[in-house]
Amino acid sequence: MRVFKFGGASVKDANAVKNVLKVLEETGYSNLVIVVSAMGKTTNALEKIVTSYLKKDSDLDSLLDHIKIYHQEIVLQLFDNEQHSVFKDVEQLFVDLDTTLKRNKSTRYDYIYDQIVSYGELLASTILSRYLNYKGYQNKWLDARDVIKTDNAYRDAEIDWEVTKQSILKGVNKKGLSVTQGFIGSDENNFTTTLGREGSDYTAGIFAYCLNADSVSIWKDVPGVLNADPRVFDTTQLLSHISYEEAIELAFYGASVIHPKTIQPLQRKEIPLYVKSFLHPQNQGTSVKKGQPLDPHLPCYIVKKNQILLSLSSLDFSFIVEDNISEIFSLFHQYHIKVDLIQNSAISFSVCLDDKFNNFESLLSKLKAKFRVTYNTDVSLFTIRHFTNEAITTLEKEKDILLKQITRETYQMVTRY
Ligand code: ADP
Ligand code: ASP
Ligand code: MG
Repeated sequence: MRVFKFGGASVKDANAVKNVLKVLEETGYSNLVIVVSAMGKTTNALEKIVTSYLKKDSDLDSLLDHIKIYHQEIVLQLFDNEQHSVFKDVEQLFVDLDTTLKRNKSTRYDYIYDQIVSYGELLASTILSRYLNYKGYQNKWLDARDVIKTDNAYRDAEIDWEVTKQSILKGVNKKGLSVTQGFIGSDENNFTTTLGREGSDYTAGIFAYCLNADSVSIWKDVPGVLNADPRVFDTTQLLSHISYEEAIELAFYGASVIHPKTIQPLQRKEIPLYVKSFLHPQNQGTSVKKGQPLDPHLPCYIVKKNQILLSLSSLDFSFIVEDNISEIFSLFHQYHIKVDLIQNSAISFSVCLDDKFNNFESLLSKLKAKFRVTYNTDVSLFTIRHFTNEAITTLEKEKDILLKQITRETYQMVTRY
């Protein structure tokens, strides 16, 4: 079995959806699970709906209309036959979304978020699955929520591996073609959960692990994993071969081409991961496998924007030692704030933080009760894996550097903006 993941960019409009067929034509499509994420920027648009809904803003209906029209136009361009059942199916999903909004009694942001944002994947997978059938690529639509079982940590749910594995083995037709959603699952009470932004890659990893798949391919708008994000750096080169360890490091430091959680389940079963271009499916792309040296061996640049640099010192100039540090870290954990980098001296402790869930303000008031706090928001964290002196000199040019750190293979700096 193989698992393919098509992300937002690969299904962003009707032509992109048609191109998925081309990919399948070139690579074959038997014994295959396709994991698809929301079309284009739909997830961002649905996030706006959540905000508008909770604030009772007047723009809610127009935001909903935008998403609806966007999907309807894609369907209209894909299906010549306006009697096709897909029109009703898509309409029904919007009715369901509307009902979800109207019936909801909860005020919990994270819970509501998952119930609403998951519609992006439900729409994309419905349209893709119906289109493939329409064009003769017989497939079964699978509701990922029936098989991906999680805890109820909405927006960042953890997989219940035992139940998920049993359900996937039971629910997936190993001989045919299945189309399912990335990013979403469900908890014990069958409420929808999500696995964290960009989590569809992870879903592909979960299916592959549970099915003992031969490989996972994630289809991207880039030739593969490059030594830097082409949106940020002018010159980039394709990495043809990398190890699981390298991929985890790159993803952890913020190379957003692979979701960091994707690699672990694959590495446990030594399932190869291919990152390939959906525009040139015949090209090799990047292969991620056990122990293979980075090839070509190049410095790899990663930038994470919108980070926070926080420095804490004790109010009485006493040392910041293990017990304070463990207390500080338990607060980060409690507020779902991710620590990218740590540096400490006798009386001060600095961390670069990723506040994905916007909890920093609440955390600050806790910290201020115990520590002297200074911080910069909107900082960037630059990482160079396999740095060279030349790479560092070039990167540092004209940057306002707040902190630097170098270990054997990794150079990092935090800069203003
Ligand atoms: P998807 O369509 O699957 O959601 P993403 O947009 O999440 O795809 O990921 C692809 C994007 O990741 C690329 O367009 C590129 O800008 C960005 N990216 C960041 N770092 C890298 C890297 N090291 N190599 C390739 N692409 C990268
Ligand atoms: N659609 C989700 C997101 O945009 C999941 C994904 O794309 O992987 O975050
Ligand atoms: Mg993505």
